[in-house]
Amino acid sequence: MTPVQTLHCDLLVAGSGAGALSAAVTAAYHGLSVIVAEKDAVLGGTSAWSGGWMWAPRNPLAQRAGIVEDVEAPLDYLRHVLGNNFNEERVRAFLVAAPEMVGFFETHTQLRFEPGLRIPDTYGNAPGAGTGGRSVIAAPYDARQLGDLVHRLRRPLRETSYMGMTIQAGPDLASFMNVTRSPRAAAHVAKRVGRHLLDLARHGRGMQLRNGQALIARLLRSAADLGVELRTEMRVLSLLRDGERVSGAVLGTPSGEIELRARIGVVLATGGFPHDALRRKDSFPADSDHLTLAVPSATGDGLAMGEQVGGQVDLTLASPGAWCPVSEVRHPDGSIGRFPHIIERGKPGIIGVLADGRRFCNEGLGYHDYVAAMLTASPAGAEVASWLICSRAFQRRYGLGFARPTPVPVEPLIRSGYLRAGRTIGELASACGIDVAGLEQTVADYNRHAVNGEDPAFGRGTTPYQRLQGDAAHHPNPCVAPIAPGPFFAVKVKPGSFGTFAGLRTDGSARVLNAQGQPITGLYAAGTDMASVMGGHYPAGGINLGPAMTFGFIAGRHAAGRA
Ligand SMILES: Cc1cc2nc3c(=O)[nH]c(=O)nc-3n(C[C@H](O)[C@H](O)[C@H](O)COP(=O)(O)OP(=O)(O)OC[C@H]3O[C@@H](n4cnc5c(N)ncnc54)[C@H](O)[C@@H]3O)c2cc1C
Repeated sequence: MTPVQTLHCDLLVAGSGAGALSAAVTAAYHGLSVIVAEKDAVLGGTSAWSGGWMWAPRNPLAQRAGIVEDVEAPLDYLRHVLGNNFNEERVRAFLVAAPEMVGFFETHTQLRFEPGLRIPDTYGNAPGAGTGGRSVIAAPYDARQLGDLVHRLRRPLRETSYMGMTIQAGPDLASFMNVTRSPRAAAHVAKRVGRHLLDLARHGRGMQLRNGQALIARLLRSAADLGVELRTEMRVLSLLRDGERVSGAVLGTPSGEIELRARIGVVLATGGFPHDALRRKDSFPADSDHLTLAVPSATGDGLAMGEQVGGQVDLTLASPGAWCPVSEVRHPDGSIGRFPHIIERGKPGIIGVLADGRRFCNEGLGYHDYVAAMLTASPAGAEVASWLICSRAFQRRYGLGFARPTPVPVEPLIRSGYLRAGRTIGELASACGIDVAGLEQTVADYNRHAVNGEDPAFGRGTTPYQRLQGDAAHHPNPCVAPIAPGPFFAVKVKPGSFGTFAGLRTDGSARVLNAQGQPITGLYAAGTDMASVMGGHYPAGGINLGPAMTFGFIAGRHAAGRA
């Protein structure tokens, strides 16, 4: 097809998630003319659906709070956890640039952060593990600041927001969980919900942005302020080359193809391949049909384009995907949503069992490890799934998946079959199709020790990460309580993912490498198009967005000749 138009810029950025916008804003700040080409009609990708936490050790917010560490501590931690997948050049580049990235954005752009001073790393017993301060999140944002851009911001995920309102982990979430227990929490929630309802009436969407919504909105504001051209419904189809150098791309738009000439090059940040069925089949041998939470438009385009010019997809990672247990929710309109089980598994009074009624892991592990354990424990040929089991009182207190705590009613979810219920554990097992004797035995064994706050089978509550996920007000162990009295509830969870870990091989400057390990001139990758610097491990919350933001920043800076 003959291109209808030719465009020119310094840097083309494919995609509009965290990796892409970080690169675009950095490059534009350093004087480059930048075009962001987004294939979808809205901007933000999976990043806009995310919790928004970024793992960025040694960030300035931690330092200002007195948490000062040199690069060797997190480096040691990652060396230990990543094992054979530890790539010192890339890990060091990440750890050196992460605090610079946070400092750059908070000083020069509209991005502001809040610290995660109490959030520990996942494997608290490993050398170098952090006990708090290594994570940051974008500060809440008023969408009015976006002007017309607000209409191009991807809306939040239905399942993780409350009527379209995003709730931030920490004091905000705690208020929602304690709304019937504390007048202060009730006042906070009343204010938030009241304003949200007004926003819905006036603007047709929530305007108090938090989490990934706040991150993307702040990046979009910053990009627009710096003159970045933000194009939607513009799909990067293939890369152009001058000799060996990547010099632009062919773009697909509703009005035809466009040839784009990029003086410096192209950043691939199209969100990995969670919806590329063929590549998933090749890369996820153990489970090619897991339920991904990523946006449908993340179809592996960046990886395919990188390969076309000699880039290599690294499949040697410990895991090809960033796992998360997921339950399927049938909404009243007939659509089926996916709910990520991030929070309630760590609370006291819940266990996860397979169809034989037996537990298979410490339920308070990170989401990635829970799914990895489910994949390992499920018998060959059987459906890979587990059931989360708790009392009704637990569900009313902490929620169970999409079934929110008091005062949100649960009856519709029981009627739809999402929640299974039983007056006794045996009745619950029958309702779920779980082995009755197996589950009765498991709950009896678990409860016997749980009354003393102990879990000899799997050691719940033995790391700072698990204890933070628990309930500090519950004693003696914030992660362990008996499952009693009835009635009881269960929800079925399956393997899911936040997205993919496997991606293009890159160096410490985010440049895509060819088969000889040499950088392909003019080609960068960021976000999940780049093989995860964590080597397929999940050492801390925020290990997708922290590196996405950091390597985007590195790519933008390098493209502008500021590396
Ligand atoms: C519910 C949920 C919570 C999460 N919470 C966290 C968290 O708190 N911390 C964390 O670190 N991670 C979290 N994650 C994971 C994280 O959100 C993703 O790993 C991350 O957003 C991926 O960013 P990205 O920049 O690679 O891609 P994306 O944000 O997915 O953006 C990619 C964009 O590229 C576009 N695109 C695709 N193909 C093309 C093409 N050919 N041309 C142009 N555009 C194209 C897509 O439409 C998309 O908009 C969460 C994920 C989910 C689903």
